[in-house]
Amino acid sequence: MKNRSVRLAALVPIVGLATSLALATFAAPVAAQSPDTALINGRIITLDERSTTVEALAVRDGKIVAVGRSADIRDLAGPATRIVDLGGRTVIPGLIDSHMHAIRAALFYATEVNWIGARSIPEAMGRIAAAARTARPGQWIIVAGGWTEQQFAEKRRPTMTELLAAAPDHPVYIQLFYAAALLNPAGFKALNIASDADVPPRGRIERDAGGHPTGWIDGDNPTITALFDKLPLPSFDDSVAGTRQFFRELNRLGLTGIGDPGGFNLTAKSYLPLFRVWQDRALTVRVVFSLFAQRPGKEFEDYQNLTQMLPMGFGDDMLRFNGIGENVTWGMYNNDTPTDAQKQQYYEVARWAAARGMTLTQHWSNDVSVHHLLDVFERVNRELPIAGLRWSIARLNDGSVANFQRMKALGVGWLMQDAMYFGGDALIRTRGADVAKHTPPIRTAMNIGVRIGGGTDAHRVMSYNPFVSLQWIIDGRTVAGTPTRDTDELPGREEALRLYTQGSAWFTHDDGRRSALTAGRLADLAVLTKDFTGIAADEIGGIESLLTMVGGRIVYAAGPFAALEEKAGR
Ligand SMILES: [Zn+2]
Repeated sequence: MKNRSVRLAALVPIVGLATSLALATFAAPVAAQSPDTALINGRIITLDERSTTVEALAVRDGKIVAVGRSADIRDLAGPATRIVDLGGRTVIPGLIDSHMHAIRAALFYATEVNWIGARSIPEAMGRIAAAARTARPGQWIIVAGGWTEQQFAEKRRPTMTELLAAAPDHPVYIQLFYAAALLNPAGFKALNIASDADVPPRGRIERDAGGHPTGWIDGDNPTITALFDKLPLPSFDDSVAGTRQFFRELNRLGLTGIGDPGGFNLTAKSYLPLFRVWQDRALTVRVVFSLFAQRPGKEFEDYQNLTQMLPMGFGDDMLRFNGIGENVTWGMYNNDTPTDAQKQQYYEVARWAAARGMTLTQHWSNDVSVHHLLDVFERVNRELPIAGLRWSIARLNDGSVANFQRMKALGVGWLMQDAMYFGGDALIRTRGADVAKHTPPIRTAMNIGVRIGGGTDAHRVMSYNPFVSLQWIIDGRTVAGTPTRDTDELPGREEALRLYTQGSAWFTHDDGRRSALTAGRLADLAVLTKDFTGIAADEIGGIESLLTMVGGRIVYAAGPFAALEEKAGR
């Protein structure tokens, strides 16, 4: 990379190499230690303890080696140093989504269409039509969630007629959360669904007043998961390509790290494309992953087998194993009324994890029933202290003070997502505006001292865009623009940024190593299209990265920096 800087000098905002005077001043030993890259003339939000903003920083061997004034950082440069003039742009530490089903999203990314950011049904249908134009005959066109009708100007779901117009010849599958899916006639035919009997359990074909199928299949989480399982899987090569493309897409939005909690439809084999990309040194997002329960009733046996050669923390800075969850046992997953036997089974797995020093994360939706989970955690904790293991609960949007206090006492953190960005309007309708004022109670939990990581839970139930999530953390407005949270539950901009960097890094055992732009930390950062601290709150969701760096490598670059992007892999 180093010898590219001369060639690039003519193309991009590089202010030039170090002068001979500087070389003479520093002499040979210093030149050998000179930075690989120097970023100058920026507004660099370091997120250090004193909230310092600096102009410039220098990177060597993947880490930040100095921060300060542009002139001082320029003085460190050697003949091979790549100097990038930021032109006054804002730089933030790389964002970390602490709970994103990214490994699964990546598998399908090359063969799926997404509706993230589409503001109308014609725009969404345009993406389907574009995919249909390039798809092979008979190839599925799939939108696997990550959208809501609330994002469309029409405020309704698309119809089969609209779908037919966009993609008349290809089978199409459109998933809405885990509640429904829309298929066109070619889709129904390809899946051999002619009546309710052909739909997975508890699902049914929606019919209009005249008894004609609307194209929608309604169901619950297992119904839609089983329906999705009927779709053809992408090939290994498609999944490798999808993984590379999806992670670059995350880089485009300033993400440099994720905590991945497994997910439905994932088996051990599903991780092979990710491992290939890692082996190829082509990972552009740091992935810290946990293992999701596999066979119902055989969870414990599966964990014991699968982790024999996968000890806690195994991996490196790009890919690392982080214990079990978000589904630890099927009996306690999305179950507000677990039996004693189900709690006992969970206890046995959790105690085993604690004994092995494992991190554990559990997805739990409702505060009213989370005592079942906390009871088990406390039981384990009496026998084996878990405070150092960084266990966590994801979701819990209506979490109460009492339960956050129990979490705090256990050292259990909270993985907080922007589900209410899509769901806030429905919450107001079903539970009232007063409940929405404190859903989720971000500031309350901060005050209690619970560790909090920012995130999205993408990509089936939410968009993966971290800036949309940051905007929602800051202003509490839904995708439809409805205000929800009280001002006392709205963190400030820097606090929100800290949740999405340092907050998240705690859950992946990386606090102190990433998520601040100070000497000694890993050089993960993003140069933004807009001034995060200065623009109107409702513009934050539209921010993108112009240059994303992971471990000193420029993994994504656009606009004036486009020529600086380094090819992924060896
Ligand atoms: Zn999740």
